[in-house]
This record gives sequence, structure tokens and C-alpha cells, in this order.
Amino acid sequence: MSVLPELDLGPAAATFRGEVRAFLAEHWSERQQAMHRRNPQAERGFDRDFTRLLAERGWLGVSWPKRWGGQQRSAFEQLAFVEEMEYHRAPVRAHTMAVSIVGPTLMAHGSEEQQQRFLPAILRGEHCVCLGYSEPDAGSDLASLRSRAQSADGGWVIDGAKLYTTMAELADHCWLAARTDSDAEKHAGISVFLVPMSTPGITIRPMEAMSGGRTNAVFFDGVRVGADALVGAPGGGWAIITEALTFERVMLGGRVARVRRELDELIRHLAIACDAKGAPLGSDPRVRDLVGSLVAEVEASRLLAVRCVAELEGGRVPHHQAAMAKIVAAELEERLAEVALDLGGPAATLAEGAPGAELDGLFEQVVRASVLDVIGGGTNDIQRTLVAVRGLHLPR
Ligand SMILES: Cc1cc2nc3c(=O)[nH]c(=O)nc-3n(C[C@H](O)[C@H](O)[C@H](O)COP(=O)(O)OP(=O)(O)OC[C@H]3O[C@@H](n4cnc5c(N)ncnc54)[C@H](O)[C@@H]3O)c2cc1C
Repeated sequence: MSVLPELDLGPAAATFRGEVRAFLAEHWSERQQAMHRRNPQAERGFDRDFTRLLAERGWLGVSWPKRWGGQQRSAFEQLAFVEEMEYHRAPVRAHTMAVSIVGPTLMAHGSEEQQQRFLPAILRGEHCVCLGYSEPDAGSDLASLRSRAQSADGGWVIDGAKLYTTMAELADHCWLAARTDSDAEKHAGISVFLVPMSTPGITIRPMEAMSGGRTNAVFFDGVRVGADALVGAPGGGWAIITEALTFERVMLGGRVARVRRELDELIRHLAIACDAKGAPLGSDPRVRDLVGSLVAEVEASRLLAVRCVAELEGGRVPHHQAAMAKIVAAELEERLAEVALDLGGPAATLAEGAPGAELDGLFEQVVRASVLDVIGGGTNDIQRTLVAVRGLHLPR
């Protein structure tokens, strides 16, 4: 249980939250979590069996329309679900991209054949996807991407290099952005493909992230796919990508629940920890001040996530609201980790497994991992431009 007050998302969300907690108590117990933590950092968070258990309850489609086999729950129920998964550090990586990004985009832009083929597979937890957007010279300025897909023999031939393609080694398909028209204006010539990762011509090279997690460089050399791999119209990829990135940011904003868990652990630790002279840290006014500020920021960050779901519930796409939620949640986690290291001293800088590591290296890990959310899904600098232009209507 969190030491912070429960967020009131309405009676339906509260009931659903209770069901999700009961499920987690049974299928993601302390013992199961301890066993999962024996895996190397790069393998944590990914568990196809856990994904299938969620699928059996229909919980991969909590927000999906009934028409597509989902439960069509409100966006508030969906937030309660994401909060519980994040708070309990449940292993959701095997399905999150497919459920939150690929599924909703296929509902809007996919062909009937793609919808029939992929949507049920995603709901069964059998379709893991990696995102193939970034390239060596195309990150923030994604429209500069150079990977090419050329029309040939009724299908497409793909050539190019992708960078930071996380989970490429585990995914069934890559949600790939490639240029299909080199003569068109740079945003207009891009298309999105669903490329099976087993296709000949794909080479995956691992890269270790600062967090200890794994990402990849992926090379596409003459990769042949059918015409049915194209999502939407040729050259219509930019609208699809920007819409899908908003779904991803909504997800990232919801991750403030993970920060709340970290704050809870810090508060519990401070309640029993003492300084070098044996005085309880929790009664130090400076410590109370720092922790009080963090609690207020976590609450503000949660409310930004709620605002996003309120927009979704009202049938609107929360472009700048999702950007705001993402900026605040990501930077808050960085600050929390810095405060924890500052208060914990040398013992807090020791890594997991090291003798004497405070909270078994939790904040040493968070310091290294939290930078990812500031960069991923579009860096916070880019998000600030989005807030300025779309939210405040400032000139570019
Ligand atoms: C561990 C990890 C996992 C990732 N996983 C994936 C993945 O699965 N799939 C995928 O496609 N990508 C992934 N990414 C890539 C991520 O989306 C990019 O790193 C990000 O978009 C930034 O691009 P870049 O690294 O090329 O930096 P750059 O775009 O070169 O930016 C460098 C710096 O300049 C700033 N900057 C650039 N342009 C502007 C501007 N116009 N205004 C203000 N500031 C600017 C940026 O904010 C940044 O601080 C991952 C990245 C990491 C680190």
C-alpha cells in the first residue's frame, strides 16, 4: 500500500483497481517478484506468461472498443490499471507497445486484413512489437530518416539502419518507419510497415543502455515484405507516427505510479534510517522539506496524467497534455533519485547485490534508468516545443 493518498478516479475505477490488486497479489507475489529479479537487468519486465495471464482476463484490451474484442472500459479505469501495473513493477513489456501503440493505430489506419490478423493476436498476448523509428542521423528530427522501402514485385524491399530498437531481439514484428518517396517533401515521403522480425536480411546487434537494459542497432538489407506489410497509404506515415507517439506519451505519463512507488520506498526507509550521529533522518527539517516537495510534485504529476485521460474520455487526442505529463513525470523521477542519493550518502550509491547497498541499490539503479524516459518517446526539449506551440500557441 502506498503511503500517499489514493487517487479518486471514480467508483468504477476503484472497483477495477481492487480486482487488479487481487490479481497481482495472486500472480505477482513477493516471491514471484524476487524470482523475476534474479534475471539480468536486460531481461526484466518481459514475461510472456504474465502477459498471457492478463490476456485470459481480457485485460490487454481494457480500453479497446468492444467491436475489436476489448472491454471498452473508461480511460479512468485504464489509468487505474496502468497505475497498478507500474506501481507493482509488473512485467508488461511483452505487450505494452502492441496494446498501446500498434493496436489503436491499426484500428484507425490498418486494412481490414491487418485488423483481422493482428488485433486478435495482440489481445491474446501473442504479438510483441518493437519500434523502428530512430536512426543514426534521425532521432528528434525523425522526418530526416533515411531507411528506404522500394516497391518491387507487388511488395516492398527495405534497406536501412535503425538505432535504439529496444526489444528487437524479442519482438515478432517491427513497427518500422521508412521512406517510400525520396522526391516528396520530407514529412510526406514516409510510410509505416509491420515487418516480421524473422524475415531474411535483418541483423540485430545488441547495445547496452546506461540502465543495464538492452537496446539494439538493427540493419535491414534487401528485406522483402509483401504489400500487406504497409500500414495506411504510401507516404501517409507521418500522421500515423505522430498519433502513435501521443499514445506512447500518455503511457509514459501514467508511469508516475512507478515514481510514487519509489517515493514510498524512500519515505519508509527514511522513517527508520538515522544519520551519522544516530539521529532519525525522518525528523530532520531539511529531509522533511525535501520529501514534502517530492510528495507535492508526485501529486501534481498524477493530476497531469488524469488530465490526459479526461481528454481521451472526451474523445480528444491529448497532444500537449500528454507532452506535459511526460516531461513532469520523467524529470521528477530523476530528481527523486538525486534526492535519495543525497540523503542516503555513499551506501545509496552502491549497486544491487553489493554488501551494504541501501534499499538493495534501488536508487543507484533509478539514477541510471530515469534518464531514459527524459529521452525516449521524443526528448523533453522537443516536448517543450510541442507544449509551447500546440498548448500555448506561441510562434515557432
Ligand atoms: C535506451 C534507449 C531506448 C530507446 N528505444 C527506442 C525504440 O525502441 N525505438 C526507437 O525508435 N527509438 C528508441 N530510442 C531513441 C530515442 O527516441 C531517441 O534517442 C530520441 O528521440 C532522441 O534522438 P537522438 O538520440 O538522435 O538525439 P538528438 O535528436 O540528436 O538530440 C540530441 C540533443 O539535442 C536536443 N535537440 C535536438 N533537436 C532539438 C530541437 N529541435 N529543439 C531543442 N532541442 C533539440 C535533444 O533534446 C537532445 O538533448 C531509445 C533511446 C534510448 C536511449
